[in-house]
Amino acid sequence: MDATQYIDTYEFTRLGRSVDGTVPLERFARLLEDLPGQPDASVVTWSLRGEQSAAGERFLRLHVQACPRLTCQRCLAPLDWAVESENRLRLVDSEASLNEDVPGGADEDDEDRVLGARRFDVLALVEDEVILSLPLVPKHDVCPSDPKLGVVLDDQSDVKGVAASPFAVLGTLKKD
Ligand SMILES: [Zn+2]
Repeated sequence: MDATQYIDTYEFTRLGRSVDGTVPLERFARLLEDLPGQPDASVVTWSLRGEQSAAGERFLRLHVQACPRLTCQRCLAPLDWAVESENRLRLVDSEASLNEDVPGGADEDDEDRVLGARRFDVLALVEDEVILSLPLVPKHDVCPSDPKLGVVLDDQSDVKGVAASPFAVLGTLKKD
């Protein structure tokens, strides 16, 4: 077990500490549940810094980098999704205050909050951050037109430019 997996968030923020690490992606079971097989060398790199304002507000600043392999929902080929996330999380003291409005803090409704703890699981936080950074419906910007992947399509069509989008087809129709 890494020494840095657990922190005391109270001490961590009061002293302005920071920790960082690199862990194999395969360590994150919850994250992997919905993902295809991952490259062996895939890692998650993270850092966490504690901050405390003059008013006594406590924050964790989390930075996460990863590149999990997803499945493109359009062409079903692997899609390596670069995650680069920087987030400031407000530490609260009770489950109840995870969701309640901050008095006079209307502008901070979108702020992410986490429950402080004497034994806080940093890697669970890192895993959550990666999961939240993944798209609901991952798609390539442009699906690979690699012949190896497009073989079936090409064989079934006499038309040149099989990958043409419906809009491109419309364009050719208009020209006529
Ligand atoms: Zn695709």
